[in-house]
Amino acid sequence: MTKQPNILFIMSDDHAARAISAYGSGLNSTPNLDRIADGGMRLDNCYVTNSICTPSRAAILTGTYNHVNLVTTLDTHIDNRLPNVAKHLRAAGYQTAIFGKWHLGEGKAHEPSGFDAWSVLPGQGEYFDPVMIDRDGPRAEQGYATDIITDKCLDFLGARDATRPFFLMCHHKAPHRSFEPHPRHRHLYADGQLPVPDTFDDDYANRASAAAAAKMRIKSDMTYKDLGLVQPEGGEEVGDLLLPGWTHRKVPDAIDGEVLRLIDVNTGEAYEFTDPDQLALFKYQRYMMRYLQTIAAVDENVGRLLDYLDAEGLTDDTIVIYTSDQGFFLGEHGWFDKRFMYEESLQMPFLVRYPAGIAAGSTSSTIATNVDFAPTFLDYAGLTIPSYMQGESMRALLEQAGETDPQRVAYHRYWMHKDEFHNAFAHYGVRDGRYKLIYWYNDPLDQLGAHRGDEPPEWELFDCVEDPFELHNRAHDPAYSDIFAGMLAKLDRKMAEIGDVAEHDSAAVRSGLRRQTAA
Ligand code: CA
Repeated sequence: MTKQPNILFIMSDDHAARAISAYGSGLNSTPNLDRIADGGMRLDNCYVTNSICTPSRAAILTGTYNHVNLVTTLDTHIDNRLPNVAKHLRAAGYQTAIFGKWHLGEGKAHEPSGFDAWSVLPGQGEYFDPVMIDRDGPRAEQGYATDIITDKCLDFLGARDATRPFFLMCHHKAPHRSFEPHPRHRHLYADGQLPVPDTFDDDYANRASAAAAAKMRIKSDMTYKDLGLVQPEGGEEVGDLLLPGWTHRKVPDAIDGEVLRLIDVNTGEAYEFTDPDQLALFKYQRYMMRYLQTIAAVDENVGRLLDYLDAEGLTDDTIVIYTSDQGFFLGEHGWFDKRFMYEESLQMPFLVRYPAGIAAGSTSSTIATNVDFAPTFLDYAGLTIPSYMQGESMRALLEQAGETDPQRVAYHRYWMHKDEFHNAFAHYGVRDGRYKLIYWYNDPLDQLGAHRGDEPPEWELFDCVEDPFELHNRAHDPAYSDIFAGMLAKLDRKMAEIGDVAEHDSAAVRSGLRRQTAA
């Protein structure tokens, strides 16, 4: 039997592929993340099955979709008696550990299971001096979360049994909202010159009503804390509360003719705005500056782990993965945040290096999703992939060995209809190599049993090659009715395969398409 490789799985929180220089956007520089890409493969079509933190993490650990592991929302925590990939690897002799963000619940029923060592942030966790929980309970740590999480990983590696392989999950909190950089990075990207996406002023025309309804706009929905700003004394009531009863307030839009005063929380620099467009661009630059500064710390700390592998002679025997629990909007469509099946939020960055099997400097556009990660780890460990797992091993894809199924589709389902912070609508759909079909089923009854409204359902169909920014919904375009029918068949096939329950009536949709074609 060949030697079982070590697996170092590094995952950040809300890190868009566009904010990794290996993806070529030119937005920022991530030399250490690029070391993984340069020494291995960059995946360009890796997708999340539910674009929020908690469900993505459950899918990664269990290799199952959220309707199966039942972690459908941020409020439905994992049952840690379920089998997971760490338990399988540990039973096969791996030393297993997880440090950093867990976000699958706390307490006996939800804390990490299957790990020899663990220390995790409660909930989202804090950037500075975070509390972390381990087997002995909560304890206050001192320092910056990204550094602390890496220190714990390095301590685990230093104390391990070198005769056995390891499976280490290093889960950063960064760059999650509220984007709090370490002071050592405050000089980066601070000149206010970051490129503004072409779709920043999107009017959401030709899209499902969910797009215009979402409260994820940089212009209107970011808080003072997100942007590192405060009000001058006496201005505590300027801006709406994030939610009634909350302490955080949103920085309001500027009103023509009225002066809005803002102060940089670190430097004390004061700003005045009267022009709404100028203020929107100022918010975009502040948001991106802080977001990219937190990523600089992630990149540095990934470098520390890679340096350790090099110094210990472990590089050749270790599969290193860098990914994020989902994508993130960086001003596209005027948004921050995620949740939607639109490309910026659906795409997970995925860089993988394994000199023994994966060609250096390779890329792939084959579709993979986060339910495929666990089967991939087991495949590389030489273990049987249990039948309950719904993903498939990515090994052939990564090693470019043999054909992968061109019919592969990524399935996505978001369940938190009209969540109180973001007002994002419930939807599901499939993306193949070219097209994307989304059904906004807008379930009036959410997963917690609360009625959230009665928006009528809507379909969206996008040609991701001709229309990469998804500005033109083709669902009602007769020229696309055959493509719609083909994508509907793929959606139905995928839902049947994974056992999810459809909210749409395919027969009725098909007869509508026939009428449309005949007309
Ligand atoms: Ca996340």
